[in-house]
Amino acid sequence: MGEQVLSFDSLAVHAGRDDLAELGVHAPPIDLSSTSPLPDIEMGGSSYESMATGGHPVDGGGFVYARLWNPTVARFEAALAQLEGTAEAVAFSSGMAAMTATVLAAKAETGGRHVVAVRPLYGGTDHLLASGLLDVEVTYCAPQNVAAALRADTCLVVVESPGNPTLQLVDIGAVVEAAPGRPVLVDNTFATPLLQNPAAHGAALVLHSATKYLGGHGDVVGGVVAGSAAWAGALRRVRAVTGALMHPLAGYLLHRGLATLPLRVRAQQSSAEKIAGWLSAHPSVRRVFYPGIPGCDPTGLVGRQMRGPGAMVALQLSGGYEQAVRVTNAVRLFTHAVSLGGVDSLIQHPAALTHRPVAAAARPSADIIRLSIGLEDPDDLRADLAQALA
Ligand code: PLP
Repeated sequence: MGEQVLSFDSLAVHAGRDDLAELGVHAPPIDLSSTSPLPDIEMGGSSYESMATGGHPVDGGGFVYARLWNPTVARFEAALAQLEGTAEAVAFSSGMAAMTATVLAAKAETGGRHVVAVRPLYGGTDHLLASGLLDVEVTYCAPQNVAAALRADTCLVVVESPGNPTLQLVDIGAVVEAAPGRPVLVDNTFATPLLQNPAAHGAALVLHSATKYLGGHGDVVGGVVAGSAAWAGALRRVRAVTGALMHPLAGYLLHRGLATLPLRVRAQQSSAEKIAGWLSAHPSVRRVFYPGIPGCDPTGLVGRQMRGPGAMVALQLSGGYEQAVRVTNAVRLFTHAVSLGGVDSLIQHPAALTHRPVAAAARPSADIIRLSIGLEDPDDLRADLAQALA
């Protein structure tokens, strides 16, 4: 009889846990060693060399030194790769460390130093690309202009869908088609692997700020990139050489977070749908940005590319920046804080905070606030927003 094909929910619970019974444990072990005893010089040396060049530890050679790789982190990576439908995944100390490593790996692999970046992007990503620190030239463009933005030395195309903060959806397959032979990186942080698998639409690299929905409890910072074995090797090489490995405790928490990801995201999404619908009819709200409401998904990507509209909502206030200040000060159940994707609801002002470093012309307008819908009762969240908007 063939292997049983598991559903997403079952995989989320069981991925990365195949060997636990054999080890005689029920919860995955946490390996905090900063260094590992070496079997002998030759084996230790070959394992070191293998990992420093992006490979796996050699049989019997061990992990050698904790900057190179770590078994607890490797468990999370294996599980996330299964959920994204990729061969491997590589975990970093933050989403931005993951983005940095991806650009460095793309430069090293292709020899190019030009990046095409589809806006809108998370402010930190936009800023990193523009900063000059990675020695890349960047062409920012709209999704339909990717083909025109390509150059002979384009090493990477960067896309975020839904985009932060206004939830624009990008047709991943169309971008991949417009950039033949170029690696397309999709930031899948907002969608999560429950709602979207960019690799199935041709993306070479799938990035998450694991800090958000993957962890889901607002207590861990991390990043991860899923892709082919070849890309994983290139990313691990950068990670080992630059020292950007995820901490094992973060790897443990993120692996644990994956088990409840489907339940959390479905519940958060169900509340977000109710809240976005209610906000759309609110007199103080000029516009709601949410892929689940009419007008926000003109090409029908929800259903075709995303399996649901997600749990992030942005709104444009009729009362402008002054009202944004009043609302963010008046909420009680929502916490006024950056970040997203956790069990508790957050509210923040992108232009002043997450997107502050973005060039003024591309920065979200000052009358927009962003909500991350958590697991509270949606009626309580609605009541909190109602009193804050009053
Ligand atoms: N990508 C998106 C869509 C984000 O929202 C963020 C952070 O907010 C990042 C990347 C960066 O991740 P991190 O904060 O874990 O470095």
